[in-house]
Amino acid sequence: MSELPKYQNLVNGERVHAKSGQWLDSYNPYTGKPWAQIPRCDSSDVNEAVAVAKAAFKSGPWRGMTATERGKCLVRLADLTKERAAALGAIETQDNGKLIAEMTAQTNYLSEWYRYFGGLADKIEGSVLPMDKPSRFTYTKHEPIGVVAMITAWNSPLLLLTWKLAAALAAGCTAVIKPSEHASVSTLEFIDLVEKAGIPPGVVNTVTGLGPEAGAALASHPDVAKVAFTGGDFTGQKIYEAGAANLTPVSLELGGKSPNIIFADANLDAATMGAVSGIFAATGQTCIAGSRLLVERSAVDEVTERIIEVAKAAKMGDPSLMDTQVGPITTIPQRDHVLKMIEIGKQDGAKCLMGGGVPTENEFADGWFVQPTIFSGVDNSMNIAQKEVFGPVLSIIPFDSDEEALAIANDTVYGLASGVWTSDIGRAIKMADGIEAGTVWVNTYRAVSYTAPFGGYKRSGIGRESGQDSIYEFLQTKTVWIETDQSVANPFIIR
Ligand code: NAD
Repeated sequence: MSELPKYQNLVNGERVHAKSGQWLDSYNPYTGKPWAQIPRCDSSDVNEAVAVAKAAFKSGPWRGMTATERGKCLVRLADLTKERAAALGAIETQDNGKLIAEMTAQTNYLSEWYRYFGGLADKIEGSVLPMDKPSRFTYTKHEPIGVVAMITAWNSPLLLLTWKLAAALAAGCTAVIKPSEHASVSTLEFIDLVEKAGIPPGVVNTVTGLGPEAGAALASHPDVAKVAFTGGDFTGQKIYEAGAANLTPVSLELGGKSPNIIFADANLDAATMGAVSGIFAATGQTCIAGSRLLVERSAVDEVTERIIEVAKAAKMGDPSLMDTQVGPITTIPQRDHVLKMIEIGKQDGAKCLMGGGVPTENEFADGWFVQPTIFSGVDNSMNIAQKEVFGPVLSIIPFDSDEEALAIANDTVYGLASGVWTSDIGRAIKMADGIEAGTVWVNTYRAVSYTAPFGGYKRSGIGRESGQDSIYEFLQTKTVWIETDQSVANPFIIR
């Protein structure tokens, strides 16, 4: 077999192997074969990358640049990212098996985050405070927090990175990035653009490798000033614990069990497509999967029939083809987890209406496929309604009133996203008020934007990404007091 292409990390502007000389294979989930290799870094690589990022933060040219200059770098990065979007999307499809149509839609959209946060960089203002002590001139300023560790998941590598990196660079921070070991290559390719955009060497660095090795070393490093993480809630908990040991702030973008709620008065054509996009797009491998479909009882049979019709017609196959609609699962352990959850759903008494296993046709033999699966008769207490599946598995749950829909929607440890389909605006607002989730979509689903804050309630996370306020995740506030009265104050009384 010919040797696989090897991708290196970027540290201090130079391409480097792991110090141990070890590599990890990166697999193509459609062929089931390795297609590239990435460095298997450990704590010694992490220590070096963090030291470089710390030096770049404290004394490098980045620190001396004005916010306007930083913003211009980000706008250049936006242009460069747009030019490379198609190639980056194709790499992601090869690495995580998600549809080329979906991955290129994402990589084409990245540039908007760099442009938006580039524009925001020089609009972060402190204030002069109205003082109760008139001789004091007191003002605030927002300063970059320092070295940010960015640890990301495999399902949308560059989108998840961009939500962190654009805001952190606009704030003036430096970064060490640890992408998922299952899909690192697009990050390693993208990183070349950072220096081309004029961002000095050492400001953005990468360390690839396994979570418990490179990831854990990065999250627990005492010189990391902030950890920005996307992944599962149990890993998020470990990151939080590692941060706690150093009192390092963390932001966590975690999983979900999002309710997608259809009322009988909704436009059922649109709602059906919303339900399908909520669970079968991305083969269900999206944190915002609308995996619990709550349907008003009088409409449940019709909605179920319509969804089955669309799901049965969905074209499964090679994710690198533009017309494929259902691709493989990204990793073997993840595929096995999805299949196990399907079995548990059957054992718990849910009725499997379609799918329920791996496809048997020869063309799917090499890839890690799971059939789109629909369960009816699901009670919200069942495992398939409570645990994140992260695969193409939909649970349909009927309800009889607004109050019952809300109670079921909120009966989960998660709170990432939700959908409400109704033609009654009063009901839509009532549901939006009552749902415990960071995002409520009304008559749409799976929409994101650089202008819109995104993040979770409850076990779905801490902090927000995107939107103006998200830049404050990477800033800290300093208050400066200047005494203008020269008289000497009594040292024993609070001033
Ligand atoms: P994961 O938690 O297994 O891994 C995420 C990252 O953490 C990877 O880079 C991994 O190497 C690293 N990691 C693992 N163990 C670690 C440790 N002990 N210390 C430090 N780092 C460690 O998640 P995944 O399987 O890659 O992604 C799927 C999960 O991500 C799902 O739960 C999904 O809902 C969630 N997700 C959330 C969002 C969001 O924005 N809220 C977006 C995408 C995915």
